[in-house]
Amino acid sequence: MKAIGIDIGGTSIKGLVINDQGQLLTQSRIATDAQQGREHILSKVSSVIAELLAAHTDVIGIGIGTAGRVNMETGEIVYATTNLPGWQGTQLKQIIESEFGLPAFIDNDANTAMIGEAWLGAGRGYGDLTMLTLGTGVGGANMVRGELVRGSLWNGGEWGHVVMVPRGRLCNCGQYGCIEQYVSGTALVTAAREATRFPYSTGLEVLQDFEQDQQQIVDLVHQFLDDLVTVIYNIHLGLNPQAIVIGGGLVESKEKWWGLFMAKVKRLQLGIVVQPAELGNWAGSIGAAKQVFSFML
Ligand code: BGC
Ligand code: ZN
Repeated sequence: MKAIGIDIGGTSIKGLVINDQGQLLTQSRIATDAQQGREHILSKVSSVIAELLAAHTDVIGIGIGTAGRVNMETGEIVYATTNLPGWQGTQLKQIIESEFGLPAFIDNDANTAMIGEAWLGAGRGYGDLTMLTLGTGVGGANMVRGELVRGSLWNGGEWGHVVMVPRGRLCNCGQYGCIEQYVSGTALVTAAREATRFPYSTGLEVLQDFEQDQQQIVDLVHQFLDDLVTVIYNIHLGLNPQAIVIGGGLVESKEKWWGLFMAKVKRLQLGIVVQPAELGNWAGSIGAAKQVFSFML
């Protein structure tokens, strides 16, 4: 059995075909400019799906993880921040099903990332699990005794918009001081630009200067990791999962910061496991495809 998994993020759409044994068959990633709006994203999603379907004749369904809050029953995006302008209200399930004639399963991107990690990655074997994704935004997902916690209005697990700094930085959700404004890839770039006036455009560039011991950058990466530790600490007290898995774009350059981060986490002696995503930035698409098997087989 084969399924398609799609991950819709702020800067790229990642799609793959995987079978129910967890073997990756095809991967495809295209850059997007989400700021161009809904039709742009939809057309990119369609072209990735069409490309994958052209290579495989026996796909049984399409799973999609997207930033924003998703009504899993109707497949509607019930809330999205300005990271995906115009996305809110999109009937994504209906659109995809009518275009491709296959069943579609839509969920939040951090939820699908956690499902992916729980299936084939760093979350294996944990019934009580939290996932954070650090990328354009900060995604959050929670599993309690093997069940995903999506909440009564699909807001459950949105760690990125939990307020960490009262009256802090303005967030794309309209609130001030959200976690996303301090520990996302975007936040790292913003902080580096402000501190140095250098026009950094990616987290990777900032982390390269961190490796080169550039003093202002060293200071702000420490601050960034201290803030991330605070988030871990709050999750530890809020839900006390067995493990917290951290994924998203920043984990693609984890060799530059994970060691320092772990040293800071260890000082708190929490006694829970904190691990980087093993599926890297592909966890979301893998988990999206897994949903197809879970619902259809
Ligand atoms: C969105 C979340 C999403 C996260 C990661 C946040 O800005 O509100 O729904 O999971 O970004 O993409
Ligand atoms: Zn927010």
